Amino acid sequence: MASSDDVRLDTLAVHGGERRPGPEGSVVFPIYQGTVYSVEPGTGYHDIRYIRLNSTPSQVYLHDKLAALEGAEAALATASGMAALTTVLHTVLKAGDHLLASDCLYGGTHDFLTQHAENLGWTYTFVDPQRPETWAAARTPSTKVFLVETIANPLVRVAKLRDVVAFARQEGLTTVIDNTFASPVNLRPLSIGFDVVFESATKYLNGHNDLVAGAVAGSAELIERVRHTANLYGGSLDPHAGFLLARGLKTLAVRVRAQNQNALALAEFLAEHPKIAQVNYPGLTSHPDHEHAARLLSGFGGMLSVRPAGGLDAAEALIEALRIPYVAPSLGGVESLITRPAATSHSGMSAEDRERIGVTDELIRISTGIEDVADLIADFERALQKV
Ligand code: PLP
Repeated sequence: MASSDDVRLDTLAVHGGERRPGPEGSVVFPIYQGTVYSVEPGTGYHDIRYIRLNSTPSQVYLHDKLAALEGAEAALATASGMAALTTVLHTVLKAGDHLLASDCLYGGTHDFLTQHAENLGWTYTFVDPQRPETWAAARTPSTKVFLVETIANPLVRVAKLRDVVAFARQEGLTTVIDNTFASPVNLRPLSIGFDVVFESATKYLNGHNDLVAGAVAGSAELIERVRHTANLYGGSLDPHAGFLLARGLKTLAVRVRAQNQNALALAEFLAEHPKIAQVNYPGLTSHPDHEHAARLLSGFGGMLSVRPAGGLDAAEALIEALRIPYVAPSLGGVESLITRPAATSHSGMSAEDRERIGVTDELIRISTGIEDVADLIADFERALQKV
């Protein structure tokens, strides 16, 4: 079963891409760990079944499962989220091309562009994904691609994605979206017209903080070109990790829905707390993107950020006093994680640049897990008493 026309996402997460019957009748698709497979005479190089060529049985099964979840004709798994991003960009851009990119990108993506685009002969302009009226001025005759994220770290801003698609269509650009923070449960970007979606599968798709992987989905023609690039750059996903990812995908819908609910309840609690000055969560009516996020997304996600009223000392005291969340970067797993972006994901930026984009020293980012939300709230309530 692989078609998103037939059934809803929860069912697709479990059954999408599955072989029925599976090999030897197995209900769970096994790990084909073999590097290479016997060939018929005359088989071409790119039809060989070999792990780096992304064509072994476990890999093809995972690709079908990812495609079903994204509502795509085809998908590809990669060795990391960064491998997914770089492989897509190497496929859709050539030397001399220009891209429009959101001015609020994941640090690795930002650094890849600022440190490597020039060597590759690409130019770029950062644009505000909330302000469609500014995009035309940034477009050049060589612009080929518009790169955005669904929900941006750490202020959880939700980009004006329908405007991105409309603008790109009018201008003939390829649209590329990093959907890591939303996951297909909260948005399937291909369904609103994006050309290619990628995700760090390390986060929600796998959901258990125990592997690193990436996923790319789009039309069969585009994914074939992405696979060709991936085969040459070599960032393929090992079948063992692919097995864990496919297992994680089966619970994606229930996990992400629980995370959406926990984040909303925690955000509502913290927004009322006298020791918290600000809560950033798109599910709150106070969030600047709440209205269009409500129209765009099926859920507001599991990520929120907060500013304690007492500044950096209060932020450190709160983090120290919490018992349930682990103090760790990354996100999207079943365990709640908490981090201070100024000290982790945004530590490479100058204090002035961080201040300008709102990543002040005391800002705390929370990735809500699937714990009982009453326990999470009680943990924050108790910890805030010590602040
Ligand atoms: N995109 C986003 C939004 C991320 O948060 C991350 C990692 O944190 C990545 C991409 C890169 O993913 P990976 O660490 O799997 O390479």
